[in-house]
Formats: sequence, structure tokens, C-alpha cells
Amino acid sequence: MSANFTGNFTQQLPIPEAAIERAVAVMRSGRLHRYNVVDGEVPETVALESEFAAYMGARFCLACTSGGYALQTALRAFGVSSGEPVLTNGFTLSPVPGSIAAAGGKAVLVEITDDLVIDIDDLVRKARSSSARVLMLSHMRGHIADMGALMDAAEDLDVAVIEDCAHTMGARWGNTKSGAHGIAACYSTQTYKHINSGEGGFITSDDEELMARATILSGSYMLYGRHETVPAGDVFDRIRLETPNCSGRMDNLRAAILRPQLAELDRLVDAWNVRYRAIEEVLGTVPGVRLPRRPDQETYVGSSIQFQVPDLDESEIRALVEACLARGVELKWFGDAEPVAFTSRYDSWRYLERQSLPETDRILSSLLDMRIPLTFSVEDCREVGRIVGDTLAKLRTRGAA
Ligand SMILES: *Cc1c(COP(=O)(O)O)cnc(C)c1O
Repeated sequence: MSANFTGNFTQQLPIPEAAIERAVAVMRSGRLHRYNVVDGEVPETVALESEFAAYMGARFCLACTSGGYALQTALRAFGVSSGEPVLTNGFTLSPVPGSIAAAGGKAVLVEITDDLVIDIDDLVRKARSSSARVLMLSHMRGHIADMGALMDAAEDLDVAVIEDCAHTMGARWGNTKSGAHGIAACYSTQTYKHINSGEGGFITSDDEELMARATILSGSYMLYGRHETVPAGDVFDRIRLETPNCSGRMDNLRAAILRPQLAELDRLVDAWNVRYRAIEEVLGTVPGVRLPRRPDQETYVGSSIQFQVPDLDESEIRALVEACLARGVELKWFGDAEPVAFTSRYDSWRYLERQSLPETDRILSSLLDMRIPLTFSVEDCREVGRIVGDTLAKLRTRGAA
């Protein structure tokens, strides 16, 4: 038996030196608030918004306090009203239904497919039965649905799409960046996402009124003229007095930390994908493992990997997770009825109306999930894959005996 794995699944890369230097300069200036500027100064927050908008090819960009805040603000800025249905994936992270609740909406959950993306047929059914005007599309764990088919369906249904790109910052569908399909997109810069400021987020959009509302909502007071990636003043004139201030601005310190990381994002994406493919290659040879298919049009960011073990029952999956952990490999199981740490299933979000998603239940019941931190070498990733494969093989021979 080979040695146990000793890597740390939650250890991120250090913040780059250039980012630390910038952060120190901001602290020395004392001007951490985005509207605290001296003549001629472009604050870090404004520079970051311009750079992120350019990276995404978006007209407008707003930096804010978190990905979850970005989601709820995009929904409010779109005009979701109290009790209004909002479609979303049945498989996502809890801040997504949380953002719908925060905006006063009622989440209508849509089934997923075995490739872990939203099921477009079920989307059509749920959109018709709920008369929803908006879909919060979660690219959960970086899996991107067929965006051509999805946007065609959304157009037919007259449903606006707001994209949750927490796991697809840097990803593309064909030649289009993930986040450029819908009316708005939301990103997170929380520590476990693709660029790291501890907490933080973005909204991008090409829609003038949505972005003007989002800016006022984020707590711009009447200082929105100090932004560079928002619409012109006349758009604000129409909405500024009817839009509440729900304070959630980004500060210059976080922006300073993010700018050098954004400049490196494409390189980080390549580093993740080499690691993802190393694990995928090993797991692909293990009997009883089903990996999600990744279509040719999808340029993903492999910051985590998912796989199903469809022929294991609940107790066998628990045994697999425990045995892997004993060898130093941390798997999360999305089928657990009891929410654990970051991982929870839709039926544990009890503030939602009860909904039945038999396909999603079947898929999640055997779905395992593993982080891929960039502090792992490619060889570490192969080793992790081998440990999962060995452990599963032992369990299966024991089961068959
Ligand atoms: C992390 C995450 C969010 C929310 O981001 P925060 O910045 O932590 O609020 C939203 N959606 C998904 C899928 C996420 O993983």
C-alpha cells in the first residue's frame, strides 16, 4: 500500500507579492473607502472594476462585498418583487437560494442532468408552470449547460438569465466568456474561488438601468459619478431616488489585492486544468466511477472535480469517504441528508417551499466532490486519484465477497 496523502485540501496559494505591496500602499494612504480619493487619483476599486469589465468584455462592472451580495443585488436591480418566482438549479450552493430569499423571491428549483448542469426540458416546464420572469442560472462547480440551447429556451419563454459565475470566472462557452450570456452575471472573490480577497464579488452587465440600480443599491450614495464602469448620469436620474441603499461596497484594500491576481487569472486557469485532467485521467480508469462529460465548447476552470459512484449504496459511500479521509483525501458527498460544512442539499433549505426533484435526488445520492487547490502539484493530483481508485476497488471487492 502506498503512503497516505499529506496535502491540505483547503490551503490556497499565498497572495502575490505585488498584491501585498499594493495593499500596504493603500493602508499607508489611509484611504480604504472607495469614495475617499484625492484629486487625480484613480482608486484601486475603480481600477479593478475597469480591468474586470475589460477582462469580461462587459460594458459595466460593480465590485461589492461578496458573491452572495452580488446575486441578491442583481435580482433586486432586475426588479424581483416580493413573492415573485425565481427559477434556479436544484444543485447549487446555499448562497444562491439565500440570495433569492434576500431579494424577496420564491425559489423554483429546476432538475439537473447527470453532467451536473440545469435540465433545459425541466426548465421549460417549471418556467411555464411558475410564470417566472427570471432564471438565476448557477454554473455550479463550473459545469456549463449548452448555452446556445439554454438562451434559445430562455428567449422563447421570455425569461431573463442572471448568471452565478462563482465557479466559472475565467471559463468560456465557445468563444463567449461565462457571464456574457445573460442580462447580468455575478462573481465571487471569496478565498475558495478563483481570485482571493477573503470576501468580495462583482456584478457585470450591459444593461444600463440594471447596473444603475445595482450601483445605488450597493451604497454609492450620490457619488456614482466617481465610478467609471457604470452608465451615464441621466440613467441614474431616473432611478436614484426610488432605489434603496443596501450597503455592500468593495473597499480599496481588497481591490488592491485582487488586481495582480486578475492579471494572472488565465495562467491560474491553465494550472487548475492541468491538475483537473491529471485526476480525471486516473479516475477515468476506475471501474464504478462516472465522470461528468465536458462538451467541446466548454472551456472550464477545474478548481474542483465531481464524480458519481452510482452502484454504491449510502453506507458504502460513507465508508468510501471515511476510508479516503483516513488516507488523507477529503471528499464531500452531496447526497448526505444532513448538511455538512459548505455542502448542503436543496431539501435542507427549509425556508423554501417543499419541492420534489427525483432526478436531482438520484444524481446527488451518489455524487462526490473534491477541491483542487493550486498548492497541489500535478503528481499530488495523480496520487489523490490513485488513492480514491484503490479505496473504491477495495470496497467493491469487499462488497462482492
Ligand atoms: C461561493 C458561492 C457563491 C457565493 O459567494 P460568496 O462570495 O461566498 O458569497 C455563490 N454561488 C456559488 C455556486 C458559490 O460557490
